[in-house]
Order: sequence, then C-alpha cells, then structure tokens
Amino acid sequence: LAPLLNIKNLKTYLKTPRGTVRAVDGVSLEIFPGETMGLVGESGCGKSMTALSILKLYPQPQGKIVAGEIFFEGQNLVPLKEEEMWKIRGKKISMVFQEPMTSLDPVFPVGEEIMEVLRIHEAMSPATAREKAIEMLRLVRIPEPERIFHSYPHQLSGGMRQRVMIAIALACRPRLLLADEPTTALDVTIQAQILELIEELKEELHTAVLLITHDLGVVAETCQRVAVMYAGKIVEKAQVFELFDNPLHPYTRALLASIPHIEEEKEALESIPGSVPDLLNPPSGCRFHPRCLQAFERCLEEEPQLKEKEEKHWVACHLYS
Ligand code: SF4
Ligand code: MG
Repeated sequence: LAPLLNIKNLKTYLKTPRGTVRAVDGVSLEIFPGETMGLVGESGCGKSMTALSILKLYPQPQGKIVAGEIFFEGQNLVPLKEEEMWKIRGKKISMVFQEPMTSLDPVFPVGEEIMEVLRIHEAMSPATAREKAIEMLRLVRIPEPERIFHSYPHQLSGGMRQRVMIAIALACRPRLLLADEPTTALDVTIQAQILELIEELKEELHTAVLLITHDLGVVAETCQRVAVMYAGKIVEKAQVFELFDNPLHPYTRALLASIPHIEEEKEALESIPGSVPDLLNPPSGCRFHPRCLQAFERCLEEEPQLKEKEEKHWVACHLYS
C-alpha cells in the first residue's frame, strides 16, 4: 500500500530576532489512506509546525522549508507555487485548529462560510452550495441545520463551533484532514463527542487523519499508528498498541508514565523533569539527553537516527544501536 502522504526529512526553520528556530528538524512520517495517525509531544516540539508545513501555512516570510520533501498522492508539495497550493488546501488536504473562534469569520453566518469553501473549489450555483452546506451541518450532527446555517460564530458554543469547522474542513471531501489539538479548548464531555465525530466521519468519507495532540489518552482512543515528537524530531513511531505495550524511547516511557489514571485522580500529574529544549539552540547529540535518566557519553556527542528496531516499530535512541 502506497502512503497518501510521505514526509521525508523535512526541515522547517523560522527566522526570529534572536536567531533561527529549528522548529521541524528532519521529520520523516507517512500517512496511509484512511488511517488515523497520531502525532504527540509536549507543546513547542514542532507538531503544529509540521502540519502547517504540509499546507505551507507557517508564518511567512519568517518560516521556510529548508530541506526535505512532502509527497502527497505522489506529488512533492514543497516546490509548489502558492496558486498551486490553493487547489490543494481545503480541497485535498484540510486543517482544523484548536480554537475555532479565531478561524471563523465573526461577520458571516456559519452556513455561508461553508458555502464559500465549496464555491472556491467547485463550480456550483448558490442554491446547490446552500443545499450542500446544510447537508454538511447535518453530517457533523448539528441539530436544526437550517436554523444554525444563519447563526454567527459567537452565537454558538465551543463544541458547535468546532463542528462547524469540521464541516468546513470536510465540505470538499479531502483525502487528508490535519487536526491540530481539535479538542484541547473544549471541556471533557464535548472533547469525547468531537473525537467520536471525527472517527465516524473518517469512516464515512474515507479521509485519512493526522491527529496532533499532547494527550496520549486521545491517541489510544482514536489512532492506529502514532509518532512521538521531541524537539523538532520524531523519536519513536509505531502502531498504537505496540507503543503502549512496548515503549522503547525513554521520552515515550516518561510520557506514558505521566498519563493520570482515573482511579488515582487526587495524585498530582507526574510531569517529566526538565523543560522542552530551546529550539534556537538545541542540546548536542540526542536532544533529550539533559532530561534522560539513561543518558551516557555517546548521547552527548552523537545524534541517534530513527531506526526500525522491531517490525514497524521505529526508535531514535542509542540504547538500541
Ligand atoms: Fe536517552 Fe541517550 Fe536514548 Fe537519548 S539516545 S534517549 S539520551 S539513552
Ligand atoms: Mg501546537
């Protein structure tokens, strides 16, 4: 089976007044048709920038892809011009973000926003676009879609707004949905409903999903495969059950140990000591070494490469080489 999306050694750097931030620094990742791939890691590790790189939506002119390739349906997106990216964004690859309020236009009724994306990509009459927009609102399980069509974003709850965003993202039936922390801003019950909705729609529309989250619990519930990102790099990649059963990278083990167990709710969340490294000036060798309890000399000098340790289970750590 050929991957739908195949990212090879991607590097996206950002120029800032303080220097160059190596936000994505050699990421290789593939997503197969119809699968849900999780991308996990602490905030600031480059997860969002990886997704933004796929659609070239990182801040410009500060951001730039300095190396690597992003093959989508066999075509490398990296050299594409902005006009060519327009045909892909929202049509073949869509994105939903954490905070739907900031991505929805406050002066438009939400139904018109869905019509807008449909009419950008497909020639259709206003009447057909309206009909399809209502159909999308119904698809994302919004009650009374004909009425909600005329609502403004501020009149809707956070969960409803996120449903609208999903309707916009899926209106053109993309092959790939990039979901960046789509439930982080929502309360727990709504979170579960939105994740369930994404799962159901993925099945109905045969869309592959890249689900970005800092929450391994979310990954366990929704994803088939997962990549763990640390300081701009993928440190481990495996099928979800394999990663939970047999985590290899010390960072993944620490992340798993930090998942709170419901029965121990009163206990404080055990966090990983140390902080996410500065991507202006990342540590030498293995970027995790300042926080790794198993670090040894080689870790300070040599960067570990991502290698297939067991079948379909990749890890970048000197403990295994
Ligand atoms: Fe720890 Fe060394 Fe493995 Fe990095 S390479 S995770 S420092 S043991
Ligand atoms: Mg982010």
